[in-house]
Amino acid sequence: MAQLPWHTQLQQSLQQRRKAGLYRQTRQRQGEQSVEVVVDGQSFLSFTSNDYLGLASHPDVRAAFIDVASKEGVGSGAAHLLTGHSVHHQQLEQELAAFCQQQAVLLFSTGYMANMGVIDALMGRHDVVIQDKLNHASLLDGGRLSEAKQWRYAHNDMQQLQRRLDQTRDVGQRLIVSDGVFSMDGDLAPLPEIMALANQHRSAVLIDDAHGIGVLGPQGRGSVEHWQIAADNYPIIVGTFGKAFGTAGAFVAADEVVIETLRQHARSYIYTTAQPAAIAAATSVSLRLLQVESWRREKLQALIAQFRRGAIHLGLPLMDSPTAIQPVLMHDEHQAMAVGQSLEQQGILVGVIRPPTVPAGSARLRITFSALHEPEHVERLLSALDHACAH
Ligand SMILES: *Cc1c(COP(=O)(O)O)cnc(C)c1O
Repeated sequence: MAQLPWHTQLQQSLQQRRKAGLYRQTRQRQGEQSVEVVVDGQSFLSFTSNDYLGLASHPDVRAAFIDVASKEGVGSGAAHLLTGHSVHHQQLEQELAAFCQQQAVLLFSTGYMANMGVIDALMGRHDVVIQDKLNHASLLDGGRLSEAKQWRYAHNDMQQLQRRLDQTRDVGQRLIVSDGVFSMDGDLAPLPEIMALANQHRSAVLIDDAHGIGVLGPQGRGSVEHWQIAADNYPIIVGTFGKAFGTAGAFVAADEVVIETLRQHARSYIYTTAQPAAIAAATSVSLRLLQVESWRREKLQALIAQFRRGAIHLGLPLMDSPTAIQPVLMHDEHQAMAVGQSLEQQGILVGVIRPPTVPAGSARLRITFSALHEPEHVERLLSALDHACAH
């Protein structure tokens, strides 16, 4: 294999990254992903999964997947607009539209692709996309892919959002874009204020509710339910299945004209193979479970409260997060790595998050909870954190 002409530069930049404590590596998980995992041959109690409700391993979800895969095969064979769109996909879209109280839903193969597709399909060269600075990478990339002008506002800063709306008054169509729950901070976007500003300025709103859907609101309908937004005032919603649903894929929920526009124009919908029908069937079961088994949300909330009480008692620098994403701030990436390692020696796995995933100077542990955790797991985590941070 020939080396790239810039092989040496690549090597140097990898070396620099290693020195800076920013090098990323994959490790191998053996067996099931759950709150207890085996990684590189070692067992851990894990606080790294986004399987918030513990549905990824649910017997009914597995059974639906296996049933459809055994009858209809694994791959969907084609894009949705050819023969990839099965009755299971169709049914899931209808169930999700009812669940979200929106007119229509379109499935995408991943949340990343949903965000790329929806922004690109709705926004053109003369338009403006206005995003929270801490939005998920896929939203920022979706904005760049569209030819619209890109504006940012400081995280959850509604005065700055208002200024951006004033500054772009006569430009074209405008789309405000925000995570519903911020993936690295765990805090919520102030949806009522965003909707009020949008209405006042005739701007549309897109909310990426990857970490809200299934988890927030008494029935798990996500940010709009949590904030009690009126149904006639809903933003466009992106939801993903890889987190609370415990499966894979994503959807956009909106009115029929928006969804039809996406079906015609969203390139990440059109030019890709449909997700396997077995995944759609399993996701339908997840959707039913997350509605009827509200104890999962309640248990998750109790675990979060237990953790926060304990962490505050220990004097750990928590962030202001009410969700299953609980960051603990570190002084720098080296401390983050050292504390992460100490936790591992104690048999506990958490996310060690460093720049550029988060802004420079805000390296952190990212701890996520699942309804599969038990109170004694939280106690073990707290005492391990106490030990790791004292050294
Ligand atoms: C995980 C995530 C995505 C991407 O979803 P995938 O289905 O994993 O591609 C998009 N947005 C946010 C906020 C996320 O956390």
